Amino acid sequence: MQDRAVATISANPTTISSDHPCLQISERRANNYEVLFDFGAYKELQNLKPFLEPEEYQRKREQLDARTKNNLLTTLMERFNVQVSQVRYEMVNGKLKSPDHDDPMEDVIVRGQQYRLRNGNPIDRPREVAEVINFQKRQEALKRGAKTNVYISPRGADGTDYIHHFFGTDEVQADGSILTSIYTLKIPHHELLEAIQKLNRNYAKPQPGEPFDAFVIRNSIADVPIEKVLSVLHQDESSMPLSEFGVKVEIPTRELRDFYIKRAAEGATEQELSAIRKSMLKLADLSTGKDTFTLDNANALADIQTLTRAHGVQAIIALLATQQLRNVPTNCGIQESTTSAWSVGEFGFYRDGSGTLQIICKTCGFSYMRTSAILEQGCRLCSGKDGIAC
Ligand SMILES: [Zn+2]
Repeated sequence: MQDRAVATISANPTTISSDHPCLQISERRANNYEVLFDFGAYKELQNLKPFLEPEEYQRKREQLDARTKNNLLTTLMERFNVQVSQVRYEMVNGKLKSPDHDDPMEDVIVRGQQYRLRNGNPIDRPREVAEVINFQKRQEALKRGAKTNVYISPRGADGTDYIHHFFGTDEVQADGSILTSIYTLKIPHHELLEAIQKLNRNYAKPQPGEPFDAFVIRNSIADVPIEKVLSVLHQDESSMPLSEFGVKVEIPTRELRDFYIKRAAEGATEQELSAIRKSMLKLADLSTGKDTFTLDNANALADIQTLTRAHGVQAIIALLATQQLRNVPTNCGIQESTTSAWSVGEFGFYRDGSGTLQIICKTCGFSYMRTSAILEQGCRLCSGKDGIAC
């Protein structure tokens, strides 16, 4: 039985070395909140099982598995400052246009906002309107000759469909095209204004009654040098490209993520899930050479690989779950949404002749929007085909 093997793992909470409030919250979140949430979600589904048709149970189970995998991946992406994506636009007749769409991007975003007004989540309406304004402001700034824009998209309030916490930059390239890059954001909500004011001393003050996420999204900033943006919003480390994340983090931790899901579905305790989750974070730190508590990360990683081949994934957990874990300030928010959109624009091209545009990879759990009218050959992160290729 699995229970016996993992019962030996002690999940003593790590001592927090800093008194930074967000570190404490993120540590609590890392070790308790998300685990508690997953624990509850699987328990709830288990309780429902006798009342569901087998196919319906199977469908719900697959959804929950994919969602849990995606949440684990998002946690890892935040931890390693992954540069999430890049899009190149051309300015055509005064409007930003992506080669992936026939319409100007502004039209796609407005269409998405209109769609959500009819079908969306009321809590997100202010930020969706703000997104339209944000895009128009950035477009106007570029038309006026700005070389860069920065915009910030904080995670929404509890119950939001926008769980990602990120910022984007527009940079005018030598050939006149505009490169938009998206990065995960580590600064928690309560420190965001202070950080943004470092980029623009005259940054607006929040309006009374306006939700914070909508306020920040609405107020993009033009012409701040990108190096400054990255140093303020991105702090210490440089970002990791998605391709590097796939090789160094997604693949090495996949077995642990699959095991986490398997055990959650089998009714594992919160303590066990927490141990698996900590091991996943520790392994990812070692694999990327960022574990500050280990002298030779590469050597430790090689030992772990040997150990895994000999004794399986549970041996890694027994070894890593009790070790000191690097504290990373992520945002202090809470993830609990079933949808996970980055931008309201995603709803503006939600469907084409080939069905939904939202891709949820069943291999790694990565969720993203495919390009309209083009079918994916495999997952953009792990190249897996399950849940993607027809
Ligand atoms: Zn994948």
